Amino acid sequence: MIPQNIIYNAAYPRSYGNEFTLFDHGEGCYIYDVIGKKYLDFGSGIAVNSLGYGREDLAKAAYEQMKKIPHTSNLYTSEATLLLADKLTSFGNFSAVHFGNSGTEANEAAIKFARLYSKRKKGNGNHKIIAFECGFHGRSMGALSCTYNPHYREDCEPLVPGVEFLPYNDVETLKKTVNSTYAAIIVEVIQGEGGLRCMTPEFAEALNQVCAANDVLLIADEVQTGLARTGYPFASGMVNLNPDIITLAKPLGGGLPLSATLIPEKVNELLQPGDHGSTFGGNPVACAVANQVLEVLLFPPFLFEVMEKGNYLKKKIQELKSRFSCIGELKGAGMLQGFEVNTPAGYDGDLSKDLIKKCRENGLLLLRSGVNVIRLAPPLVISEKELDEGFDIIAKCMENKLK
Ligand code: PLP
Repeated sequence: MIPQNIIYNAAYPRSYGNEFTLFDHGEGCYIYDVIGKKYLDFGSGIAVNSLGYGREDLAKAAYEQMKKIPHTSNLYTSEATLLLADKLTSFGNFSAVHFGNSGTEANEAAIKFARLYSKRKKGNGNHKIIAFECGFHGRSMGALSCTYNPHYREDCEPLVPGVEFLPYNDVETLKKTVNSTYAAIIVEVIQGEGGLRCMTPEFAEALNQVCAANDVLLIADEVQTGLARTGYPFASGMVNLNPDIITLAKPLGGGLPLSATLIPEKVNELLQPGDHGSTFGGNPVACAVANQVLEVLLFPPFLFEVMEKGNYLKKKIQELKSRFSCIGELKGAGMLQGFEVNTPAGYDGDLSKDLIKKCRENGLLLLRSGVNVIRLAPPLVISEKELDEGFDIIAKCMENKLK
């Protein structure tokens, strides 16, 4: 039988749509489907594969740990898990890491820790949480309660009570609203799924100030922005945000499911055995790979290179914008950038959606963010030449679509 590279009617829930490209393997920044068609990856499996594909170092780390011990549960531990916890807490004022398996779990843990902290420190009734318009924090019921998009939320309601949404980057509303009856504020430095808006330094300063003044925990959701995506270990550093809790996931496990919720001593000291847990969290194989991932991603010269590539990416987007009037605002920062695509009057369809499809047919994988933003989150190891190649495909497909 001839292998098919596009699969329809797979036995997956319809919530994932009905058309899947069937991938086989990857090398560097390229990924190949089962019939050998080659794609340049500007999406990294939704900002996960920061080191690209075909990495011998990651495969070796996984293989060696798999042979030693694949799983301990969190009744026990492994050297790989201990080492990763040490590495992650060495950044900033963190004293412990809760390991989970996905971004939504990392945020779920952060929300629970914030509620536990607030109740034990301030007493009953101080449980409210602030999240922001267009924010995305995951799809489990707690994390979904902090996710803004009504389409994701409405038919699952009632959700976890006590979450309020405020406008993003609105210093005045923030200052007017926050008082000590809130347990936490959860926020992204770049709204990864909600249109790639970046936090302003003024908003970061206001968040730092209102949280410190009211003993409200500041949770930075760095599931997408953390670990070098912006050229900083954490994107919070880009705008001088001082979070109490940081959540990480996507690139951490080098493609294996692994998340981390970094907590400070003031939260940790109030936790009791049994407050939270996860059977698979801190899996030794995922942690062994993550230890190697961090060696590469957080090496200062590598971070510097990512910043430089981010500048190059911006230049390429600006060039594209100068060629096509349907390209609107430039969004994002570092290696998480994008551009609005405005569908011209008279165009039959949605140009941003069509562009993604056309690019895929022409061997380039892109992502979307929000309604009409094309999101570019290539592997951080991509070269300028590969970025040029991708932008040539985008320009060609844009021309073709606008003919
Ligand atoms: N938080 C942010 C900022 C995200 O971008 C995502 C996923 O895109 C999540 C949380 C949820 O992560 P996951 O899909 O791993 O549960």
